Amino acid sequence: MVQLIALGSLKTAASTEEMRTALQSSGGCSSSSCGSSEGPADLPPEVWNKVKDHPCYSEEAHHYFARMHVAVAPACNIQCNYCNRKYDCANESRPGVVSEKLTPEQALRKVTAVANEVPQLSVLGIAGPGDACYDWRKTRETFDLVARAIPDIKLCLSTNGLALPDHVAEIADMNIDHVTVTINMVDPEVGTGIYPWIFFRNRRWTGLDAAKILHERQMEGLEMLTARNILVKVNSVMIPGINDEHLIEVNRVVKSKGAFLHNIMPLISDPAHGTHFGLTGQRGPRAMELKALQDKLSDGTKLMRHCRQCRADAVGLLGEDRGQEFTMDHVPEVVAYDPEKRQTYRSIVAEERGEHLANRQDASRRLAAVDAAESVLVAIATKGGGRINQHFGHAKEFQVYEASRDGVTFIGHRKVDQYCQGGWGEDATLDGVIEALEGVRVVLCAKIGDCPKDSLSAAGIAATDDYAHDWIEAGIAAWYEATFGTAIESLTA
Ligand code: SF4
Ligand code: SF4
Repeated sequence: MVQLIALGSLKTAASTEEMRTALQSSGGCSSSSCGSSEGPADLPPEVWNKVKDHPCYSEEAHHYFARMHVAVAPACNIQCNYCNRKYDCANESRPGVVSEKLTPEQALRKVTAVANEVPQLSVLGIAGPGDACYDWRKTRETFDLVARAIPDIKLCLSTNGLALPDHVAEIADMNIDHVTVTINMVDPEVGTGIYPWIFFRNRRWTGLDAAKILHERQMEGLEMLTARNILVKVNSVMIPGINDEHLIEVNRVVKSKGAFLHNIMPLISDPAHGTHFGLTGQRGPRAMELKALQDKLSDGTKLMRHCRQCRADAVGLLGEDRGQEFTMDHVPEVVAYDPEKRQTYRSIVAEERGEHLANRQDASRRLAAVDAAESVLVAIATKGGGRINQHFGHAKEFQVYEASRDGVTFIGHRKVDQYCQGGWGEDATLDGVIEALEGVRVVLCAKIGDCPKDSLSAAGIAATDDYAHDWIEAGIAAWYEATFGTAIESLTA
């Protein structure tokens, strides 16, 4: 039995053995066949080498590796109806959040401090506020400084695409092999409902003209990137009634132009954010609406389902944010890069991946042996480590998997308010959790009390702690066997 140590213990792990133990509680594989979770057996070696340490481009990698964003390029050349410029760029990040803006020199100090402290760090991204390609001088200067000081970090940027074609040659020269382009439409008529104006070639464009120019520049940039074998993730914000059905066509087009991954992000719309959509009452999609759209795209370009819509100054594993530990008032004036922790961590991860792969394969074989046709959604309470290891009442998000005889597939996450408030739970919070778990058949967690269990049951959702501390896939397979078929011995036992 693997020792269970808090996720945070990697922060202080000093020796190889401590780091290995901490990793076993904080970062294991936990999905099988989500499009973005493909492994070395499913991808050409040159592509696998690019994505295997990138937490956003590989669902599997996001259990091991961390990203950080630096907000160095605040100027923007378009207006999106879901954005208020007081906040971060909602094309990649969480709307309504203000990030700490940095100069390129400050960014270098911060990245160095994080690289020394967070062994999982593998990627530096520039993802707003503003547009990394429009505010290019600052983007370029930041990446140049960091690439010289920390040569083994991946560089990654996000853009609305309008200025992208002007910089693709430099992007390729700088070895930036991951670029995210937000593409919300391939029909400019649809674009008129999303973009009130753009600023291009020294003048402001509005209406259909603006949407046409933006569309043409996005397509040109996408083609230029893929022609240079740069991996492109396309982000699309799903806006019910405006582009939700149209995203099927967006998926078809970006796939035909070579995009590597398509990330459908739900619109987050709140009047308090002061955006056009927030103020006009435009709603975002429900979790099941998002899933229904993703399912329609399942044989299109590979889908990213594990995006957390992070802050533009996020630090850490996806789903956790250690940004507040690394604000500039915590970063030393002078900091030298020490690669040792990161190198040690990487060698441990290389070993761990083999064990986790075997576990997933075992779960798949067990499910395939069950004589049942049911396909069900299972919600997992987890602190990380690929295990069912969190109390129901402590969860701030549930990871949702689809289980059937075909295997266990990561579907996405559902954010919730924490139910347990230090010994007691609020009914209103529980109602919100139940609403967030729409479509889920069972919750697997480390512990659950009778009261929330009964309320979930009344809403048609089972909950159990019978599989506490199991690997996620193993727990799901065991529950599926117990519910729909006859359990068999683990094939790797
Ligand atoms: S590109 Fe980003 S920063 Fe610019 S308006 Fe759109 S969401 Fe806002
Ligand atoms: S916003 Fe999504 S794609 Fe960007 S770093 Fe976070 S998880 Fe990755």
